[in-house]
Amino acid sequence: MKLFSHRGIVYGWALLWIAQSSIAQQLNYCGTPPDLPHWRWYMQHRETGVEFREDTTTLYVPVMIFSVFKENDYVSTNIHFILRTLARANSDFRRANIQFYLFEEPDYLINDRWFSHDYYGGQEMMEANNIDGAINIYFVGSPAGNCGYYSPTADAIAMAYACGGHSATISHELGHFLSLPHTFFGWEGTEYFPNSKASNYSHVVFRPIETVDGSNCQEAGDGFCDTSPDYLSYRWTCNRDSMSSISLTDPNGAQFHADGRNIMSYANDYCPTMFSKEQIQAMRTNLTQLRSELVHERPPQQPIPPTKISTLLFPYGHPVPPDTPVIAWNTVPNATYYYVQVSRRRSFNGPLVLDTITSDTALWIPGLRSGNTYYVRIYPYNLVTFDNGWSERMKFQTATTSSTFTAARHDGITLYPTCVRRGTPITIHTNGQIVDAVSILSLYGKAVDYIKVKPLEVITLPTDALVPGTYILQLYDRRGISHRAVFVVQ
Ligand SMILES: [Zn+2]
Repeated sequence: MKLFSHRGIVYGWALLWIAQSSIAQQLNYCGTPPDLPHWRWYMQHRETGVEFREDTTTLYVPVMIFSVFKENDYVSTNIHFILRTLARANSDFRRANIQFYLFEEPDYLINDRWFSHDYYGGQEMMEANNIDGAINIYFVGSPAGNCGYYSPTADAIAMAYACGGHSATISHELGHFLSLPHTFFGWEGTEYFPNSKASNYSHVVFRPIETVDGSNCQEAGDGFCDTSPDYLSYRWTCNRDSMSSISLTDPNGAQFHADGRNIMSYANDYCPTMFSKEQIQAMRTNLTQLRSELVHERPPQQPIPPTKISTLLFPYGHPVPPDTPVIAWNTVPNATYYYVQVSRRRSFNGPLVLDTITSDTALWIPGLRSGNTYYVRIYPYNLVTFDNGWSERMKFQTATTSSTFTAARHDGITLYPTCVRRGTPITIHTNGQIVDAVSILSLYGKAVDYIKVKPLEVITLPTDALVPGTYILQLYDRRGISHRAVFVVQ
């Protein structure tokens, strides 16, 4: 994923979001074909499945995320939305001891035909982009008119943006990917009317109709005995007990209510929260027996501990010096990326001043106006921790003096380490940009050192003279300066 900082771009995203939320009402819930080959395999081999116990080892499974945009609506930073969606999946799969992690950074695709596709276009998208070794998930505007679907042909998932975030749709489609049918399997496309006897539908329902007494639970419906009968193949709202308010009647005349807690039902989003033990056993068997290339014993990184950034390291209590419009914060253990937003508004609504992802712990903020208050929030994440939440809302002010420098962005310049032991030199890779001097400033803008350097590709900066603390490096070239923060420790 490329790192962008398009000003105001999230405003466009918000508008797109509103438009999509209204689309969400019109989307079908799920477009997965009802009869899944992996489910058939499991039903023939289920005696080989190992009974699930809640203390079994966790299976770590990588997911590859593709975020598809239309040419003109292209927006760069929706990582927070993607992370929230994956956090929902991990929450739903925790009891199954299955946890998903990012295979790598999400990939962005720009294609109008894929953004709003039919099944044929979806298959083309998946076959053109799927990678091996991960569950491929595509976020699009309209996945064949559904909230989501799993394609057994292309073996990938398509999700509508409008049905991501905290919705259970992602877990429902992952359930299909891992072989689960709907709890109402056989009723797809058939509308059940309240209180009508299920046996009236036996000529249209394409599976034996499950009864309340459990006598045919292995052969009827979804084939699982610990999921209760369900005939509701349209979206429905559960009552306070997460059950259907309408009454259903089984072929023996027994009345019951459908269970909206099950993620493979069509109950509305706040109802589903769980998979049954037999469903979990089927999914774990699917992973270990048919998809072992997706299973890892441990995650690729350590999780981020639940700590929050609460203060900026720079600026701290002073207005931002006009020549160094830089913010810096403490490293969060194990965080690889920081999603950073800067806003004029406390609420962060409306256009943002900065909306970007960085792997550094300092940022140069273009376009700040002097004498203003700005708000910052930071969302640390890595490949395995998606739900650490935003930092505290932090604010800073800009000084009123205007800058005497023309600021130039040096996007290509890399510098390491940014947290350095005193005496260890800092290495600057200029990547073709001509840097001919480096000024080292204290956090309050006081010049500590000024070093004329040879315009080389790699510049080495000694740190012997720097007492432990935070410094701003100003990198000069003929057009202007750019800034980087570094931390010197003893
Ligand atoms: Zn479904």
